[in-house]
Amino acid sequence: MKPPLSLLNPSMLSGSGSLMWFRKGLRVHDNPALEYASRGSTCVYPLFVIDPHYMELDPNAYSPGSTRAGINRIRFLLESLADLDSSLKKLGSRLLVLKGEPSEVLIRCLNEWDVRKLCFEYDTDPYYQALDDKAKNYASAAGIEVFSPVSHTIFDPADIIEKNGGRPPLSYQSFLKLAGEPSFSLSVELSWMPPVGDVGRCEILQVPTLKELGYVEKHQDEFTPFRGGESEALRRLRESLSDKEWVANFEKPKGDPSAYIKPATTVLSPYLKFGCLSSRYFYQCLKDVYKNVKRHTSPPVSLVGQLLWREFFYTVAFGTPNFDEMKGNKICKQIPWNDDDKLLAAWREARTGYPWIDAIMVQLRKWGWMHHLARHSVACFLTRGDLFVHWEKGRDIFERLLIDSDWAINNGNWLWLSCSSFFYQYNRIYSPISFGRKYDPNGNYIRHFLPILKDMPKEYIYEPWTAPLSVQTKAKCIIGRDYPKPVVLHDTASNECRKKMGQAYALNQRLNGRVSEEYLRKLRRKFDEDEDKQEPKPRRQRQKLIK
Ligand code: FAD
Repeated sequence: MKPPLSLLNPSMLSGSGSLMWFRKGLRVHDNPALEYASRGSTCVYPLFVIDPHYMELDPNAYSPGSTRAGINRIRFLLESLADLDSSLKKLGSRLLVLKGEPSEVLIRCLNEWDVRKLCFEYDTDPYYQALDDKAKNYASAAGIEVFSPVSHTIFDPADIIEKNGGRPPLSYQSFLKLAGEPSFSLSVELSWMPPVGDVGRCEILQVPTLKELGYVEKHQDEFTPFRGGESEALRRLRESLSDKEWVANFEKPKGDPSAYIKPATTVLSPYLKFGCLSSRYFYQCLKDVYKNVKRHTSPPVSLVGQLLWREFFYTVAFGTPNFDEMKGNKICKQIPWNDDDKLLAAWREARTGYPWIDAIMVQLRKWGWMHHLARHSVACFLTRGDLFVHWEKGRDIFERLLIDSDWAINNGNWLWLSCSSFFYQYNRIYSPISFGRKYDPNGNYIRHFLPILKDMPKEYIYEPWTAPLSVQTKAKCIIGRDYPKPVVLHDTASNECRKKMGQAYALNQRLNGRVSEEYLRKLRRKFDEDEDKQEPKPRRQRQKLIK
């Protein structure tokens, strides 16, 4: 531990500067940490630290980006920072960008700058919890006041857990009961800010461009249509709210997952993820719309209900040790998933041979965003529906490629979709053929994201391997050459998955959830033996199809 600030530089004691540490919460509206930093301070240092672990180009990654984030999310973040810088400039301030390990950079700044208050939004993600502990420990030893309000979520997850006797509620309904009506007041809108203080020898950067971070132009075709930043978030919010009927009648499961020209939902998730949009402000705006209409939908299907799903997952994630893993996670069924890297790669690279699944995976890579039910389809297909690959593997791919990638929500939904937690009806499997067809019989979504299939007649677009060769030739798409054959036969694979899930659930029940590695290995071996006994042999057949 370095010596406290007061011992290093006694002349600074008279100062009353604040450091506003931005991480998420990349906004000026409803930002209580920023408001507090600005109140009564002679100067404010608005800091963002570029974390190389997160942002540095990884030339070996399976798609453009860093090890942890695809290029789309990095771009979205840079756009959000540029927008924040421009909003701060309008208030008489600016964003100070530094590069390095965030807690080291922060501590150096606290050491060198005139700081009496350290302000940052409270963050429940394990990565930030660890970082924040270091920052708080240093600040309190240095006599710096720390202000870290809960404003990324509507409720404080810790409050809900406390109300429930120290355990997180495990169902949405019990969460709603405990949470009740939220009581928050939005922070005041800033009309000006104190100037930035003296930064001494610190080398302050401009918000970097992708190019400056080492990313090259050839990646352009991978770019998402969604622009980052608070201004765009508020514009999108206004646009969604302007159609009051749409807001009042919003019913989540009724939306069309194949709608891509005008998505069926708000596409505000990436803005909520980075805090370009305050979830509390969004909530209040929705409530204002409800006041002015005769009837509106309710949770869980309404738009307010969607925001409350977010709160639910944040609360469970915060209160569950090892929430992002199967092992050591008390709320997760222990299932001997397979580690089939070839199947995983086929799924990730949109080569499963099921156009509905592959189109969604292309949308993920190119846009970093897909409709909720599209996410359902591909997550179910990878895990308990068809391929029986571990949900953690799919989670990792979503985590890297989604522009709205969110630790609590992503893990929560993967637990859900794989029937590992929250939802246990493993017999209900999404068909990779008929589910998409129900919404988009002509296959326009597939034609857009998989142009190789653009001339396939609509009768075959969801099952192109069933098209006669003459039709494939006319459509300029020979299955097995221009587009892959299916990696598994859905009917066989989904039945096998159901059986495996049944056996895994029985084991979990018999051992009351305490399933050791040894038991999992035994069951895994049994699955392999059962597969080998079958005629025709799906495992071998699958390997043949995938070659
Ligand atoms: P809208 O329907 O307009 O909803 C408004 C907001 O409510 C969303 O922006 C989001 O913040 C919240 N919300 C909606 N649905 C959910 C949900 N099921 N759980 C929690 N919050 C919700 N969402 C993420 O934000 N980040 C993720 O990393 C993420 N990973 C997912 C992984 C899987 C396997 C699945 C099935 C879903 C995942 N979701 C994730 C949830 C959901 O699909 C997205 O939040 C939603 O599609 C975002 O689009 P929207 O903003 O138009 O949503």
